[in-house]
Amino acid sequence: MTQTPGKAETRRSLVPTKPFLPDDPILAAYVHIPFCRSKCHYCDFCSFPDPTEASLSAYVDALCREINQMGENISEQKSKVPLRTIFFGGGTPTILSPGQLIRILDAIRNAFGWEPESEITLEANPGTVTAEGLAALRLAGFNRLSFGLQAMQPHLIRWLGRTHTPDDFLAGIDMARAAGFTSINTDIMFGLPGQTLADVEQTVCQVLALPIEHLSFYSLIVEENTPLQAMVEISPQLLPDEDSERAQYRRIIELVTAAGMTHYEISNAALPGQECRHNLVYWHGNFYYGFGVSAHAFTQGVRRANTADLTVYLQGWGRSQAGLPDRSFLSTELEIIDRKSAMKEMMLLGLRLLSGVSAQRFYHRFGVGLEDVFGPQIVRMTRRGLLAFDREGVRLTPIGLDLANQVLMEFV
Ligand code: SF4
Repeated sequence: MTQTPGKAETRRSLVPTKPFLPDDPILAAYVHIPFCRSKCHYCDFCSFPDPTEASLSAYVDALCREINQMGENISEQKSKVPLRTIFFGGGTPTILSPGQLIRILDAIRNAFGWEPESEITLEANPGTVTAEGLAALRLAGFNRLSFGLQAMQPHLIRWLGRTHTPDDFLAGIDMARAAGFTSINTDIMFGLPGQTLADVEQTVCQVLALPIEHLSFYSLIVEENTPLQAMVEISPQLLPDEDSERAQYRRIIELVTAAGMTHYEISNAALPGQECRHNLVYWHGNFYYGFGVSAHAFTQGVRRANTADLTVYLQGWGRSQAGLPDRSFLSTELEIIDRKSAMKEMMLLGLRLLSGVSAQRFYHRFGVGLEDVFGPQIVRMTRRGLLAFDREGVRLTPIGLDLANQVLMEFV
């Protein structure tokens, strides 16, 4: 989508909402690398397959310029605070060379800086990392890796349209450990066509036998306009029924818990102290920067999205445009989060966490009690056994966890 400065201006002036502005500094940054070797059948993320070296190089230049510009802005506003979490996601960030990734990280260091204990995550697809590259990335400051495995069965990986093998993943974990990464996540999927409960168990058990600290488990979602959607329209029986899919989900939770991990978010489990601090920023409704094509940001009470048009992004942040005084057309205002929206978001995002929404934190943030704002919804859901509510706050019950979407809809 191409956006002009005029359109963005019009949209802003039509929205009279006043943003809710808690006194929180911006401590997190997301960096989007929108390239992959090929496009997976189920993917609707902003990712462009099989990029040329020239487009990768142009993108890194543009991205560094966007980061530098934000660094200059916040220095002028005297709002510079070292970041606590940085997340390179995609796409496949490791499609860039280690040197390119380090250049982007250096731009962030110069623009914001970070604390010695900050979490700096790099998403990686198996088959796109090398021992030397990982060692260089670890030395440069990356300290958490997130591998996209999805399943240990080659036929399931192929069905998803992914290009790696289980052996690539195993080699990636070995290389990551040898490079000094002590915080590793693995993404897996369930609810896949043809995937059995035994497949899911095998994947989880094999992954948990490896030195990893965090596991993310996502149910396959059929997104619009993907090859997967076309496939299941022709053969809907490919997908497991809801009972089978829920049984797979419950089994994953049993296995991760038995392995000593804490199931701390609907789709995430971690060893103690190894929860993803960057994603906790989202679930707690805190502010974050977003850099790169299609990246979202939440700053000063406003959600924004960068253009998803790679050409527009490259032109806008291109070298020849270095003197452009106003690049606001590269970012669209999505929503102003006022006080009421911020309360709803705290429920919608916070209930994803198994610890739920803290009554004290809600009061501290809004000066009003949880039950004063959401009393009817909480009563309805507790009567159905889907939510538990006490002095500590409100959280999903085990039954509520299975029906989380229904519960969350109450707070929309
Ligand atoms: S690797 Fe991830 S981002 Fe890339 S095409 Fe596959 S699902 Fe999409």
